[in-house]
Amino acid sequence: MLRAVCASANPHKVAEIFDLMGGVIDLQSRPADLADVVEDADTLIGNARLKAVAVCNATGLPALADDTGLEVDALNGAPGVRTARFAGDHATDADNRVKMLGELSGKTRTCRFRTVALLRFPDGREVIAEGVCEGSIAEAEMGERGFGYDPLFIARDGDGRTFAQMTVEEKHELSHRGKAFRALSQLLKNDSPTA
Ligand code: IMP
Repeated sequence: MLRAVCASANPHKVAEIFDLMGGVIDLQSRPADLADVVEDADTLIGNARLKAVAVCNATGLPALADDTGLEVDALNGAPGVRTARFAGDHATDADNRVKMLGELSGKTRTCRFRTVALLRFPDGREVIAEGVCEGSIAEAEMGERGFGYDPLFIARDGDGRTFAQMTVEEKHELSHRGKAFRALSQLLKNDSPTA
């Protein structure tokens, strides 16, 4: 099985990525002493690449990264690549959710999550996949599970519950990250790249 290092430092995302890719890639955790990567690219692919290159260079192993953006129609596709910093550079998930509810008061609530999953090899080769989950922003937070905007996100193809009201398996079935990593797995099976 291909060995790679998970480039994410976000424990919630790491748990999801291990869940989704554990059977396909022999995944190791990101070295704890690695400095945070400044995610200042202007695209999701650019940010995923920054994280993957940093981990690849530090470990000499292939690195698996993802980057996610929430695109809200009433905000002309924002916050997009700035989703983590929507309420400011040091915003918490809770700050971001409060700002989102405020911004959407009285507005159309349709949106989508987009994830780019990127596997980078030490020789510079990359395998890249994208997953999109259409949905809408709830009128108020619902549910205790998940992270980030999960208490606000209602998937269009779901049953009306937010991601934070679903089990992790139910979320993976519908989610941007589930779709992106399943697509990446398929590409790896087709290409059979070697490290
Ligand atoms: P990043 O991919 O770690 O840069 O995440 C960007 C922003 O999107 C952060 O604010 C995350 O909390 C949020 N986010 C990423 N993935 C999800 C998800 O699956 N559900 C809810 N929020 C997410």
